[in-house]
Formats: sequence, C-alpha cells, structure tokens
Amino acid sequence: MQVPIFNTYIHPSAQQRVSEVLATTFLSEGKLVKEFEAGLSSELGMVNPAALNSGTSALHLAMILAGIGPGDEVILSPQTFVASALVVSQQGATPVFADIQYETGNIDPADIEKRITERTKAIMAVHWGGYPCDMDEIQAIARKHNLLVIEDAAHAPGATYKGRAIGAISPITCFSFQAIKHLTTGDGGAICCLDPAMAQEALKRRWFGIDRANSPMSELGEREYDISAVGFKYHLNDYSAALGLANLTGFHDRMARRRALAKRYRQELVNVPGITLLQDAADRESAYWLFGMHVENRLAFIRALKAKGITASVVHDGIDHNSLFGGTREELTNQLRFNATQIHIPIHDALTEEELEYVVTTIKQGW
Ligand SMILES: *Cc1c(COP(=O)(O)O)cnc(C)c1O
Repeated sequence: MQVPIFNTYIHPSAQQRVSEVLATTFLSEGKLVKEFEAGLSSELGMVNPAALNSGTSALHLAMILAGIGPGDEVILSPQTFVASALVVSQQGATPVFADIQYETGNIDPADIEKRITERTKAIMAVHWGGYPCDMDEIQAIARKHNLLVIEDAAHAPGATYKGRAIGAISPITCFSFQAIKHLTTGDGGAICCLDPAMAQEALKRRWFGIDRANSPMSELGEREYDISAVGFKYHLNDYSAALGLANLTGFHDRMARRRALAKRYRQELVNVPGITLLQDAADRESAYWLFGMHVENRLAFIRALKAKGITASVVHDGIDHNSLFGGTREELTNQLRFNATQIHIPIHDALTEEELEYVVTTIKQGW
C-alpha cells in the first residue's frame, strides 16, 4: 500500500467547469472570479475576500496595505513556509522571529511582547497546520502597542476560533489555494480585509492600481483611469476561479471528514509511547491541513513508515536558519525543540479509512 502525505483535490465537476471557461475564450479576471469570491464569503465566512494569483501575493499585498516599508519590523513565527517572511524582506523591512508554543507550532503570545521595538509595525500569525493561533491574546498585544495583526491562514480555510471563521477576525487575513492546499485553484490565494476601504484598496492594488469597477472604456478604446499608488499583477483568472468554484462544492463535508480522520488518529495514537499529540483546545477547530505530532527517535519513525509505503514528513522546519533571515536563533528554544521532534502523517481527501487503519497499525508496531 502507498500512502502519500498530500493529495491534490479536484472535484469531479471541475473538468466541465474549466472546459466551459476555455470554450468562452474569456480567460482572465471576469465574472467567475467574482462568483468565487462570493462563494468564499458564503461557504467559508471570509470577509471581503479579494481573489489573487497566490498566497504569497496575498501576503505581499498585506504588507503594502499595512504600509510596511524599509526599516520596519514585522513579528512572526519561524514555524512556517519561507513566503511568510520573504514578503517582509521584499518590502525592505525585517522579519523578527518570536518563539512558538511547543504544543501547537504557533506563535507564543507571551514571547511577542519581548520582540516589540519602536520599529515594529505588525504581528503576523501563522496557523500552523490549520490550528488557529491564540487570537485574543495576540489582538490584545496588538491593541496595547498599536500594531496591525495579519494572519497567514494558508493552512486554515475552514478553521474557526471561538466560533468565528478564520478570515473574519483580524484586519487582514491571507489564504493560499496552491495545489496541495486543501482548497485549490491550481495556484491562487485570497486577501480578506475587515475594513471596507482597505478591501477596496486591495482590489485596486491587485490590478496595477487601477480601479476596475470605476474606469469606464472611453470612445477611443482605453479605460479611463489614473494610477495614484503602485499596483501589482496579482489577480486570479477565470479558469482558476472555475476550479475553485468546483472545489467549493461539498467543502464542509470534506472538512467534516478530515476532522473525523483527525479524531480517529487522536484516539488511536494518544497512548502510544514516544508520541505526543499537538494541542486540540475546545474553543477552536483546526482545518487539519496537516496532522502533526511530536515523536521520539523521529528518523527511525520516518524510516519505519517509509518501509511500509507511508510518507511522514516534517513539511517545514523553522525558517530562521536561512541566511537571508540572519541564521538560526538559538534563543528560540521552543522552535529548536519543535524542529527536533515534529512530524506529520497523511491526512487528506483521498485517505481512506482502511489506509488510516494501516498507518495506525504500522505506527503501533513501533520504530
Ligand atoms: C503555501 C503557503 C504560503 C504560500 O502560498 P502560495 O499560494 O504557494 O504562494 C504561505 N504561507 C504558508 C504558511 C504556506 O503554507
């Protein structure tokens, strides 16, 4: 049996829906992008989503909307993909890493305050594996120090915190719809801004800085517009949106199934010696893009699973070690502990009950 760690979910209706777009020959941003955005709001509770061509574009646009520039600092968790910090560097600003919670892989609110300087502009919260960060505590620190909260929710579409949807909590939330994320448009992303004026600005900046809705075609055949701020080529296109719309069908059932699989894993693995499960608090629901845990003797664990055709992976270790970001921070002791023992096992839409049992049985045989 081969059990991969990820799969790319494509709803059966996607072929037809994408073909229809190809048949129209209207490929760029059009009515399907709008429809997809409406679906993100109605199905996932996202506020004012603007659909973009990647999660990285969403994070970079967040930097622009937050006014992050040279000399500024953004505090974030190292337990993420490099994109989270690269967008800070792209603006000539400095990513400042705070320590994480060993129990979740998320930023530790208690450590954030230690990292605040007069240059700090924003806090970026990354929901590792889809498990929501301590948003109340993070918002409280942000309010106290007048900082903006940006969520990197690349792993968290469908997650909730205290009954509220991720995408409806912080001033800015960014999503990724990349191929192995659990809601995919091939490549794509979205930015959600709570403030309607900022949401308008996001729409403008994603398309060269042109206000598309208010730039009528002149008789001469060109849109009438005036660019007043730097814009980008960050919008989603209609054939990607068609794939996204297809994949929104049944999203809640897929999410429920993912959570049921996670629950089974938790029941089966909670008492296995050498395994420590990550936290699962009652006040939030993970989107379970990943099923992570801590394992003693990790390399032996990976090899034992690999011998049975099962892929286990760290997915990402802390990103602070990259020379661009200044190299490993020895003071981030929880991140170092996390790096040493974290591991993820397969959880995705193609994972059958039988395969889950097989993974559990293999793990229980020891490593
Ligand atoms: C996937 C991912 C991104 C980047 O998203 P893309 O759509 O690939 O640009 C950003 N942050 C995290 C945490 C991710 O996992």
